[in-house]
Amino acid sequence: MSAKAAAKPDISVRVRMAPSPTGSLHIGTAWIALFNWLFARKHGGTFVLRIEDTDKERSKKEYEQELLEGLAWLGIDWDEGPIAGSEKYKGEYGPYRQSERAAHYRKYLEKLLADGEAYYCYCTKEDLEAQRGAMLASGLAWKYNGHCRNLKAAPKGEASADKQPQVIRFKVPEVKVEFKDLIRGKVVFDAALLGDQVIAKDLDTPFYNFAVVVDDEEMKISHVIRAEDHLSNTPKQILFQRALGFREPVYAHVPLILNADRSKMSKRFADVALSEYRTKGYLPDAVINFLALMGWHPKDDREILSREDLINEFELERVQKSGAIFNQVKLDWFNREYMKKLSDSELAVLAKPFIIEKYPGVDDAFFERLIGVERTRANTLSDFAEIGTFFFKLPDYEPKLLVWKEAPTKEVGQILERVYGELLTLNDVNFHRETLSASIAFIIGEGNRGMVLWPLRVALSGQQSSPDPIDIMDVLGKHESLARIQAAINKLDQ
Ligand code: GLU
Repeated sequence: MSAKAAAKPDISVRVRMAPSPTGSLHIGTAWIALFNWLFARKHGGTFVLRIEDTDKERSKKEYEQELLEGLAWLGIDWDEGPIAGSEKYKGEYGPYRQSERAAHYRKYLEKLLADGEAYYCYCTKEDLEAQRGAMLASGLAWKYNGHCRNLKAAPKGEASADKQPQVIRFKVPEVKVEFKDLIRGKVVFDAALLGDQVIAKDLDTPFYNFAVVVDDEEMKISHVIRAEDHLSNTPKQILFQRALGFREPVYAHVPLILNADRSKMSKRFADVALSEYRTKGYLPDAVINFLALMGWHPKDDREILSREDLINEFELERVQKSGAIFNQVKLDWFNREYMKKLSDSELAVLAKPFIIEKYPGVDDAFFERLIGVERTRANTLSDFAEIGTFFFKLPDYEPKLLVWKEAPTKEVGQILERVYGELLTLNDVNFHRETLSASIAFIIGEGNRGMVLWPLRVALSGQQSSPDPIDIMDVLGKHESLARIQAAINKLDQ
């Protein structure tokens, strides 16, 4: 579902989403993907998906699969990637995977080593611990002390009897690194605080900050739109770019997502996984609209915006700097608004997978009627299986629940019998909302509204709050409605 809406396409706009498949697809990752996607679509540029799976231990294929499925569910599609050697998924290509690009990183690591911009470091963990202890003891903040940078004859990575190369380090110059962030404005870092940075374990094992720089260059990324927790990586990446003679992309660091109490939304909790929202029955269009308006808003105060509206109006400059609050109540509101746009039958089709787990044999026409009656009470598609339970199975209830206020039990029984008798005269075809309303109005006309409707509601639903009893009967049909009323009469007789 590619939506390309740019008035004047700017093919130089190339953005990327670069998730690490080390856990479930976090709602925040989907959020960043959305901002990248909207930006690419707005400008008629390219959206690249790059799986950052260099961490061999923590990266898992099933997380990558979840990621691809999550993005496909949201309708966030990517535009390119290698074809050969990649299984295709929804989109025609890719995604790119860092694990398939080792030769590219190796080439640039070799270049940095040859140019003297990087060196093999032989310091062991114990050496580093000792350095750290000494620096802290003399009141200095810890950074690598440059021991191996200063070795006279720079070793070429070979091992000696007592020394093994441990890592490859980049020589960080003592300069101020300044860049303009589209969201945060001017950002300045003092690189003198960094110390020489580890960029790879060895030529075949680059680390995140280095691999990203090579990829962003080779994939001609124009704008790096990512979470604020990468802000401290940016000066390092800029220094690597400079050493390699690469371009510097434009940066935009999106704020973190906060819980309602302003605490950071952890990656540890299952309910921050996008798949949870899918499982709970949120509509992808509602989730997209909700995510887009979290931390960003259009020039006016409209809240319901279609994908096309979002693409047209999205501007990175309008993304807020402060943390974006994840408001569950708002998400429910969006979902209800998007559910309102659907007909009963459209909603029934979407909600059916959620109900068949619990009620496998559900009849389509029955379920569609149920949706019609319950739709205003549901926040999500899965709610129908909860709030609609009594339609499938009458819950057990106490006979005294049937009694309206202080009414004598006997009278309640008589009224239910009266209703039963009246409804029995309707034939199956005539058993629908209009005729039922007329019949019940006729009985109410003889007496008190609550005296009729209260016991009828309880008889039909087994609960004290439910949709209108007429609506319930319209869903249940004659046979089941009468059976429930009869069961109530029997309860009162006991
Ligand atoms: N792989 C990084 C992550 O999952 C993102 C890297 C980036 O956007 O530069 O956090």
